Amino acid sequence: MPVTITDVRTILTQPGASRLVIVKVLTSEDGLYGVGCATFTQRVFAVEAAIERHLKPFLVGRDVDRIEETWQMSMVHGYWRNGPVLNNAISGVDQALWDIKGKRADMPVYELLGGKCREAAATYVHAEGSDPREVAERAQALVDEGYRHVRIQLGGYGGAGAADRRPHGSPDGNYFDPRAYGPTMLGMVEHVRGELDESIELLHDVHERLHPIDAVQFAKDVEPYRLFFLEDLLAPEDIGWFETVRQQSATPLAMGELFNNPHEWRGLITDRLIDFVRVHVSQIGGITPARSLALLADTFGVRTAWHGPGDTSPVGHAANLHLDVWAPNFGIQEWYRPSELEYEVFPGLPRVEQGYLYPNDLPGLGIDIDEQLAAAHPCDEAVEQWTQTRLPDGSPARP
Ligand code: MG
Repeated sequence: MPVTITDVRTILTQPGASRLVIVKVLTSEDGLYGVGCATFTQRVFAVEAAIERHLKPFLVGRDVDRIEETWQMSMVHGYWRNGPVLNNAISGVDQALWDIKGKRADMPVYELLGGKCREAAATYVHAEGSDPREVAERAQALVDEGYRHVRIQLGGYGGAGAADRRPHGSPDGNYFDPRAYGPTMLGMVEHVRGELDESIELLHDVHERLHPIDAVQFAKDVEPYRLFFLEDLLAPEDIGWFETVRQQSATPLAMGELFNNPHEWRGLITDRLIDFVRVHVSQIGGITPARSLALLADTFGVRTAWHGPGDTSPVGHAANLHLDVWAPNFGIQEWYRPSELEYEVFPGLPRVEQGYLYPNDLPGLGIDIDEQLAAAHPCDEAVEQWTQTRLPDGSPARP
């Protein structure tokens, strides 16, 4: 008798700054369940509806062991596919099924993937400041904690202060100046590079804030500082520019947290136009597609750097870590330094020691959710502000 799915539950919670969506798959075996990350923090209620109204009726009664088939059929069952809401919903179920399979096998998920290539995943964390000196101080504080890779940002995602120049009558919002971005950031990188020990690796996230031709210039200008990588230099809509960037500089490039569809990463990898693929694992549908993507990238010399800020749930971070310790082409893992409350809501959430994130040896994903505590921290319904991004003339821009 196969073990089957008896219920699929969606848990919304917000123990920190980000709204999180966790899926719990219950089974016909007493006490056996799995958890998965379905977090699309800006659209949690849409994901909840996709799971509750569409996926759950389709999944109840299915064999929990048939992860691949369930994933493939879930992707095509709605006919239209590869959108962020449905991909996240499918990820929640997919990760929960890997968790269940691990518990059934009495093995951590990294063992099911093929076993460890390394004991722990090297992480990078964020240092942000309002001026280059502050960025350098905060970066040094992280180095003092044991981190050897630090992402350096000036004024959030940079180019701030452009609101003063907007035309009369322009709405409020998160203004930035793409033309000011390059020179300002270059000065910051130069300063921080001069302050920190040269063995410390620096990373920077452009967050799509440059016009494409200015992005080409910036990748050239920043080349002498030997970044570990330059992240999201271009928007997904502008990936046709990567070839030009590549011809012009040897700055390592990381791309992809907004990707939904294999078409977005395939050419960048097979044409060797990027160095790190950093999709948001739940955004592409979970562990099942991430495993395939990692192997495709490995074939072309591209390393992994899964997206891992606070809007990846702790369950999603656990999933990332299982992929990290397994993948032959693991590069680096973004890490967000969770609060103690998050450790209480999510027992088993891994911890960092000296910059390395260590998996536990529990079966499955090795993480759980305290539902009572999660319920005490419900999601807010506030309209997202930081994504209301504008150019100096007041027009909307990609955040
Ligand atoms: Mg990013």
